[in-house]
Amino acid sequence: MKITMIGTGYVGLVTGTCFAELGHDVTCVDVVEDKIALLNEGNIPIYEPRLENLVQKGIEEGRLHFTCDTKSAVECADVVFIAVGTPTSRRGDGYADLTYVYAAAHDVAKYITGYTVIVNKSTVPVGTAIQVVRIVAENCNADIEDFDVVSNPEFLREGAAIEDFMRPDRIVIGADNERAFNVMHKVYKPLYLRDAPIVEMSPETAELTKYAANALLATKISFINEMAQLCEQVGADVSSLAKAVGMDGRIGPKFLHPGPGYGGSCFPKDTLALLSTAQEYGVALRIVSATAEANNSQKARMIKKIKDAVSGDVSGKTFAILGLTFKPDTDDVRESAALTIVPALVEKGAIVRAHDPKGIEEAKKELPDDVQYALNAYDAAEGADCIVLVTEWSQYRALNLERLKEQMMSNPVFVDLRNVYEKFEMEEVGFTYVGNGRP
Ligand code: NAD
Repeated sequence: MKITMIGTGYVGLVTGTCFAELGHDVTCVDVVEDKIALLNEGNIPIYEPRLENLVQKGIEEGRLHFTCDTKSAVECADVVFIAVGTPTSRRGDGYADLTYVYAAAHDVAKYITGYTVIVNKSTVPVGTAIQVVRIVAENCNADIEDFDVVSNPEFLREGAAIEDFMRPDRIVIGADNERAFNVMHKVYKPLYLRDAPIVEMSPETAELTKYAANALLATKISFINEMAQLCEQVGADVSSLAKAVGMDGRIGPKFLHPGPGYGGSCFPKDTLALLSTAQEYGVALRIVSATAEANNSQKARMIKKIKDAVSGDVSGKTFAILGLTFKPDTDDVRESAALTIVPALVEKGAIVRAHDPKGIEEAKKELPDDVQYALNAYDAAEGADCIVLVTEWSQYRALNLERLKEQMMSNPVFVDLRNVYEKFEMEEVGFTYVGNGRP
């Protein structure tokens, strides 16, 4: 099939490339010319494991194309996916900003010829599919029977996006007629043959399903973060607690790891957008509201934890920050905890030496100018009073603790926001160790 992706970001690039890998003929469109030029040379503008090889393969085998020309990409497509960003609106009301989705729908409408399925892959609030139908109908030359709008939310995780696409837990398709469902079944047939379950529903249910899934995952994180706080007060250990709680088959072990508060391009904005929708319809989502509130408190609590670890005053002290991305194996720093922690330390007069395996370039755009960037964890620790492990990259999981300590000032402190290390091993080397949710 001929597939066009409008938007070649984390989602559009991964799904477009994977559809090409499955045998479809895919064109990825973006408005950013530099990004398309880079991709046409076989280089990728983001970090995602295994992606670059698949992009190069797709180009070489002639099934994957990149362009800024929406017209040529849409004219010949059977299916057009809209995979543009839906950030939180700048109005401050929590709603998703649908400007890019609607602009993409306008673009697509102008160029469709013959029956085309237009698929909302972006995370969008309930009712967006209907708005896209209206926009396309008002702006296209074709008849209303010549297109269908489908909701097909994306559930991939950055860092494991290829695996998630190729072996999804489920594929959600929201449509209102058989013809559209049939086209979507053809699109996903190669995965269906591998037993990926397809769940059919209305567009409205599909739109809401994505938000419900993200809100529940965010709730699990906020729940365990609050348990971590209580553990610290009563002298309990959240790691053992989470392990035992997660062994209950009804609960499951995933998303029960305490951390500095969830970030990334999805959970923070999607919980807010869900709350805005609920408010609009007069429904109180108290649990989601508490989840978002608990997450903000968690980030603030981490800053206090770091300050307390160095006796309350960070001024003039040097901090090695390990990890700037919101999670390992991505270069994405959107809403990452480091973007809250680092400015708070700098503002109080701290010197910050930061390292991240992939996120430094993106972080530089967001962090104060006086932050220093290190070549590796040991370089970051040079002359530092305190190390703060913010993101659990595998590079930070087996650090040479003796070597780290040698680089640092006397009486070094290690604040481990991800509980990667054990207190006894740190103390053996001579660190003062502060974990997250541990006695
Ligand atoms: P992104 O910001 O990385 O990419 C969006 C891309 O769309 C950008 O490259 C932008 O230049 C391009 N674009 C905007 N308007 C365009 C237009 N009119 N024509 C062509 N290109 C255009 O965003 P993302 O992280 O890929 O997220 C996309 C959507 O998928 C969002 O709704 C997000 O919530 C959802 N989502 C993201 C993830 C994730 O892990 N990143 C996972 C699931 C769902």
